[in-house]
Amino acid sequence: MRDVVIIGAGICGSALARELSKFQLDVLVLEKENDVSFGSTKANSGIAHGGYDPEPGTLTAKYNVLGNRMMEQLCKDLSVPYKKIGALVVAFTEEEKKTVQEIYDRGIANGIPKESQAIFSQKELRDKEPNIASEALEAYWCSETAVISSFELCVGLMESAVINGVNISLNTKVESITKTEKGFLIKTNNPKCTDIETRYLINAAGGFADKIHNMIAKPSYKIKVRRGEYYLLDKKYGSLTNTVVFQCPSDKGKGVLVSPTAHGNLIVGPNAYFIDNPDNVDTTPEGLEEVRILAKKSIPTLSYGSNLRNFSGNRAEASTGDFIIGPVKEVPGFFEIAGIKSPGLTSAPAIAVDVVNMLEKSGLALKQKLSFNPHRIVVHLDYSSYEERSRYIQANPLYGRIVCRCENVSEGEIIDAIQRPNGGRSIEGIKKRTRICAGTCQGGFCMPRIVNIIARELNIDPSEIFQDKNGSYLVEKSHKGKVND
Ligand SMILES: Cc1cc2nc3c(=O)[nH]c(=O)nc-3n(C[C@H](O)[C@H](O)[C@H](O)COP(=O)(O)OP(=O)(O)OC[C@H]3O[C@@H](n4cnc5c(N)ncnc54)[C@H](O)[C@@H]3O)c2cc1C
Repeated sequence: MRDVVIIGAGICGSALARELSKFQLDVLVLEKENDVSFGSTKANSGIAHGGYDPEPGTLTAKYNVLGNRMMEQLCKDLSVPYKKIGALVVAFTEEEKKTVQEIYDRGIANGIPKESQAIFSQKELRDKEPNIASEALEAYWCSETAVISSFELCVGLMESAVINGVNISLNTKVESITKTEKGFLIKTNNPKCTDIETRYLINAAGGFADKIHNMIAKPSYKIKVRRGEYYLLDKKYGSLTNTVVFQCPSDKGKGVLVSPTAHGNLIVGPNAYFIDNPDNVDTTPEGLEEVRILAKKSIPTLSYGSNLRNFSGNRAEASTGDFIIGPVKEVPGFFEIAGIKSPGLTSAPAIAVDVVNMLEKSGLALKQKLSFNPHRIVVHLDYSSYEERSRYIQANPLYGRIVCRCENVSEGEIIDAIQRPNGGRSIEGIKKRTRICAGTCQGGFCMPRIVNIIARELNIDPSEIFQDKNGSYLVEKSHKGKVND
């Protein structure tokens, strides 16, 4: 009998797993995909929002502000890039100037310090963002906003949880849940990890949270899925803006932004429209055209010639309108972290702390684990000084063998990413952990070498390696042995 089972290894499930790993508990995470960070957590804007956007009094507002305050230290502890560059919300009309004032007031109501906010005049705005459109009249400014790497944070949280004793079972889709006398019995599609018994059960299944809820409780909400599409531009355009530049929000959400990413690319997007399947991450010509035109309103000199790739992510929005967090009264022991739309990435660390408190209140005994290690040290040559690089290479010459020339990723880092606890197994898995294939060539030059390294380290044939999801093979099944690099 486990103490706690968490369904879903997105940012919410991973943050909770790490929080629970601070205590002497038997915790298991079940994830239907072959890696963590596969749902909304994989594809989003990567902003640690300041907290001025959500309606005051909502759970969304509460956890946004609390999560933002935790983010810098968390990223530091887990070796995840974090850059506090601030955000602007730009007004283009007299009407939008009123919205800018409302945003400022909402920021105050939500608990953002006064000194972290301002309303910039046209001149102040232009001084901050020289490439802003001449039609921009003024802007709300929040200095608490940061850019982070959502998938690296998720990988870091889960790795830290696993190092501290949490178990994770990937490729394990929860198919049914039964209430038992002492807790729950969970059946999955994975014969090696099914018929799991647990005292407490957490639903952190993102776009599928309502399906999990309905397996064990009366239907009480629906998850609607709202897609957002993006452009990701080459690093040479990463300084086109200095901050996260938003337009005024609408009923569709926070609107299209133009921003440097935590890694120095430029991200442009997202739009927002409802779709049916939470796992469908296609992009559409119409959607991308909408984003392209809207973003040029903020930064007219934006040029899409250096677009590296397009992608889309799906927001899971509950029909209740707010985050759904806490125990389900009719089913003792069953807790939910559902409807975690944006800013769920920012909010997840604070949600995790609260859910642990709620679990304790409902009877889970929490005994501190004295051996808990909050740190995760990762070698990233590209973020290291010359002195550090030299030290790494002296200790292990494989850090001196560069495989991905665009992002300066060495063979040593790729091996680390495979061998670390809950390491990557696919090209996308290694990319999330090292940034291989994330640069200008998008893997055009280094992919065969990476395939051979994964095959060698895992002792499998290249034809067994996936690009991303299960089944996304890279090499013909008939091909056997090393691929030419
Ligand atoms: C376009 C877009 C932009 C965004 N921008 C931001 C932003 O800038 N800042 C911010 O703070 N937030 C942002 N968000 C929101 C943020 O990405 C999400 O709130 C967050 O990632 C949700 O995390 P989650 O863990 O709840 O869900 P997910 O990441 O979707 O994880 C749920 C997991 O559950 C698994 N699962 C589902 N069903 C089962 C099952 N039956 N068995 C086992 N596993 C299962 C899934 O495979 C998935 O891995 C954005 C979202 C989108 C889509």
